[in-house]
This record gives sequence, structure tokens and C-alpha cells, in this order.
Amino acid sequence: MIIEHDPNKVREQVKAWKKEGLTVGLVPTMGYLHEGHKSLIDRAVKENDRVVVSIFVNPIQFGPTEDLDKYPRDLNADSKLCEESGVSLVFNPQPSDMYADDFSTYIKESGPTEELCGKSRPVHFSGVCTVVNKLFNIALPDRAYFGQKDAQQLAVVRRMVRDLSMDIKIVGCPIVREPDGLAKSSRNIYLSPEERKAALVLSRAVKKGQELVDAGETDGDKIIDQMKALIEAEPLAKIDYVEMVSWDDIKVHHKVDGPILCAMAVFIGNTRLIDNFIRE
Ligand code: AMP
Repeated sequence: MIIEHDPNKVREQVKAWKKEGLTVGLVPTMGYLHEGHKSLIDRAVKENDRVVVSIFVNPIQFGPTEDLDKYPRDLNADSKLCEESGVSLVFNPQPSDMYADDFSTYIKESGPTEELCGKSRPVHFSGVCTVVNKLFNIALPDRAYFGQKDAQQLAVVRRMVRDLSMDIKIVGCPIVREPDGLAKSSRNIYLSPEERKAALVLSRAVKKGQELVDAGETDGDKIIDQMKALIEAEPLAKIDYVEMVSWDDIKVHHKVDGPILCAMAVFIGNTRLIDNFIRE
């Protein structure tokens, strides 16, 4: 397995593979890999001749008060997981490899980015779209893999790929959870034992919402109110948002009469966690 920080060398390697007629899958990550990431990697390994995993804590998608500096990192453990999973190349650039001092070109998507996390994290999706674009231009993938854990991100990337006529298939992968229901996340490491227990309100709220939809409830406000009530009963939880939107154009929507996404962001102590469910 190759570990490379230089974007040009990564592109040269991928071009060499393509010359041989091999297909390439890309799994973009911020590292500190867990079984959620591994599920994307496993799928990519199954569907492509070569897989590139990028590990890059992308500074431009973090707001000034967010956790960029303390975001967990462990390149040794990540490389081991990648190697054991059959990855061909780990791309781990430094910020200076990706952004020149006078970097000045950003992608702005203005549809699905407008709601949910786009409201609470104003610079986030422009940072995501810009870095994903760069990763696509460096790794030249046939397919790229994204988790439904970040459902809005998946929708935004799909929109960008369509709008900018990129010849890349975006593959969405289901949420991987801990046995007790908590969605796996690199940020779960921030939680104290007490917060870890409290964090279960997110997956319990997801389950509640799913049960209501299964029982035939179509009133979005009723569904969201009950999910919120469940979260508000937990003293350590503070809701950023719990909302229903249409899937996958991410517009405010109050009725289950087509594909919907119920998404939430909740602070448990200082840690902001997200979770969701989709009904197609
Ligand atoms: P991150 O390293 O958090 O930026 O995540 C990289 C990719 O892994 C994104 O496409 C995420 O949606 C995906 N991912 C993260 N956690 C999970 C999870 N629990 N289940 C499925 N995919 C995940």
C-alpha cells in the first residue's frame, strides 16, 4: 500500500493505473477511521480495481469556533485499517499540499446546502465542495463513496457532480452504528462516560421518528415534535436542529408524501453530533 502526501504523485499513480485499464474508487475521510469508514472502504474495494482513501482534516470546512485543532488523528492506526482492508493508496496531504498561501477559488453550492447544517455551519459546505472537487481532480475516481451518516453532504455532493457534469458515480452507504444504536463517529471520542450514555438520545429519536412513519403518521411537525421532546428530556442534550426535509433536494417539508430526510444535530456537552433517517 502506498502512503503519499503529494497530490501530483497521487495523480501520476492513478493515471498509471488507468492506463492499465483499471478502475479507481475514492473514499474521502478526515481519518481516525472506524467501522463506518470501513464499510465505505469495503464497498469500494469490492467495486473497483484500486481504492484510494484520503485522510485529510480539511481546515476550510471548519468554522472559527469549531474543533479543527482538537480533531482526533491517528495515521498509524488508519494506515493499518486501510492496508488490512485492501486499499491501494492512502492520500494524506498536509494543508499546505492542498492550499497555496494565496488560494482563492471556492465552490459554492446554493441549493441543498441552504438548510440543516448549512444554517448552523455557514462556511462548512463551501469547504466540503471545494475539497471534494480537489480530491476528485487528484484521485480521478470512477466512483466515490460517501456515508448517509452525513446525508446532507451526500445530497450536496450529488448535486455538485450533476451540476458540474463530473463523470463520477457517487455511491451512498448506510449508517453504521454501535451495538447500542449510537452512530459511529470520530467525534464520539470526545464524550465522557456520562455524555456517551446521554448521546443515545439521538438514535432513540431516530428510532421514534421511524416508528411514527412506519405507523402511518404523515404529519411532519408531529413527527419532529415527538423526536424533539425525547431529546429535550435528556439534560445533557441541547438541540441545534431537528428537521424534516425532502430527499434529496433538502427543502423544508412538512409531510411524508414522498422521499424525506429527518435529520438532527444535537450538542451533548460541547460535542456536536448528527444523526438521521431517510424514507425513500
Ligand atoms: P468523516 O471522516 O467523518 O469526514 O467521514 C468520512 C466519510 O465516512 C463520510 O462520507 C461519512 O458520511 C462516512 N461516515 C462517517 N461515519 C459513518 C457511519 N457511522 N456510517 C457510515 N458512514 C460514515
